[in-house]
Amino acid sequence: MISAKTGEEMIPVLYVDIDDTIRKGYDTLGRFVNHPSDVEVFEGVADLLWKYKDLGWRIVGVSNQGGITLGHLDPDDCFAAMIETSVQTRQAFDKLMWCQHHPDADTPEMAVCWCRKPKAGMVIEAALALAEKHPGEIYPPHLGVFVGDRPEDQECATNAGLAFVDAVEWRAGKHLEVAKEGAAIERHRETVIRSVQHGVMSTDEAREALGMSSKLPSDYLDLSLKMTGVKTKTVPVYTLEVNDEFVFDGMLYVVTHKNEHEIKGQRPSPYVGSVTFYKPPVDEGRSGWNTEVITEDN
Ligand SMILES: [Mg+2]
Ligand SMILES: [Zn+2]
Repeated sequence: MISAKTGEEMIPVLYVDIDDTIRKGYDTLGRFVNHPSDVEVFEGVADLLWKYKDLGWRIVGVSNQGGITLGHLDPDDCFAAMIETSVQTRQAFDKLMWCQHHPDADTPEMAVCWCRKPKAGMVIEAALALAEKHPGEIYPPHLGVFVGDRPEDQECATNAGLAFVDAVEWRAGKHLEVAKEGAAIERHRETVIRSVQHGVMSTDEAREALGMSSKLPSDYLDLSLKMTGVKTKTVPVYTLEVNDEFVFDGMLYVVTHKNEHEIKGQRPSPYVGSVTFYKPPVDEGRSGWNTEVITEDN
């Protein structure tokens, strides 16, 4: 699904707690996972994770490992156990993160942090790291889910704006059905929009197919930003006429020809920064502008 705000692809992320969610932990193993030989991923979890991968989700592990700072857990063993966890899931994870802090640590540096759940730091840092690795993707929390077995997992989900799913219910496949349904709806929406773009479906038919009624719903605006620095927005306009104006995402657009027009503008960051607000000149007199209007003759 393309973000109507940034033009980037919005990808759902499955954030999962590790111990007693993905692999057996203290509650199910009777001891903490302190060594790779302790790792036992729950039966069925590797297949379940890969079903999400096949639906287009990215998967991030989010784990509190404060035992490192308290001296109960060797950091190299923790790392090796995480790798073993990844191996037992057939490398389903896009990222695994763990916080080494603990409030009982004897130095403020290791006692105070923004990453230990229920704080949301690991969720945010993971999303930023994924975005750096996969240009063109963003991970808005309204699409994401956090799976865990403890109150701090649920609180972390709330703090990060993510839906929460209990680990036992998740392993039983209850949320997967929701994910499948969401993917089917999205495929339908993409098909309808493409049909309009290719002229095989009218705007009215598309509105009906998508259950929409307003004149210019934002879902009809398919923005694609290409290049870096100077970006191009492609805005199909289905209901407007030439010279009509409309404001979208803080920018004033003017329809320059019937089906779409393109505007280049500076966009330093998806959520922070500014986009130059301007009205493209009707004639060609645009020298000195820091933006450029691209038009094509139909
Ligand atoms: Mg847990
Ligand atoms: Zn931390």
